[in-house]
Amino acid sequence: MTGKTHAVMGASVGIAISSKIPGELSIIAVIILIISSLLPDIDHPKSIFNKYILPVKNKMVKVSVYGGIGTILIVFNIFYRNIPELMVIGMVLIIVAFSSHRMGFTHSILGMIVFAFIVNYRALQYNNIYLVYYFIIGYSTHIIGDMCTNRGVPLFYPLKGKNIKFPFTFRVGSNNGKFIEDIIVIISILYIAYRFPMLLKLK
Ligand SMILES: [Zn+2]
Repeated sequence: MTGKTHAVMGASVGIAISSKIPGELSIIAVIILIISSLLPDIDHPKSIFNKYILPVKNKMVKVSVYGGIGTILIVFNIFYRNIPELMVIGMVLIIVAFSSHRMGFTHSILGMIVFAFIVNYRALQYNNIYLVYYFIIGYSTHIIGDMCTNRGVPLFYPLKGKNIKFPFTFRVGSNNGKFIEDIIVIISILYIAYRFPMLLKLK
């Protein structure tokens, strides 16, 4: 699915079920919904996410940027700090550097748990443990969305096996695929517009 579809789907689902989960919907929660629904594609050099992070959008640059930052974080942490979470972030960046799109880590349950662990750590520091729920909602809508496509996702990575997908799927970029994604985007935007008065009151 395209980044645009993932973002509006994550935001609308999160807004729709916000009253059912602990912790109030806030502006930060909406931002987290959007970021987390785009995050799994961080392993793709041309994804929306990397549009703003990578200076040049190719594999080599992706490996160098994420691998470099990850290594610096780990070395810095070993010599100057001793924060387990920093270690985890460094390791995740290195995994992201080397994992290819849809082939691994970021589109798996394991990836979601590891990222949620990092978000939870930050949320605890800001005294807002509920933000992690919104993170999980955004992230899982991305994975579920990609399960609707013919390539599926390696849900149980690092266990090897076929990618997991729904019985009825579409191919991203095909006419059917574009039509289905357009429908998702329109419904999501209509729903967000419908809830707009409530969103304006968010803090
Ligand atoms: Zn994806």
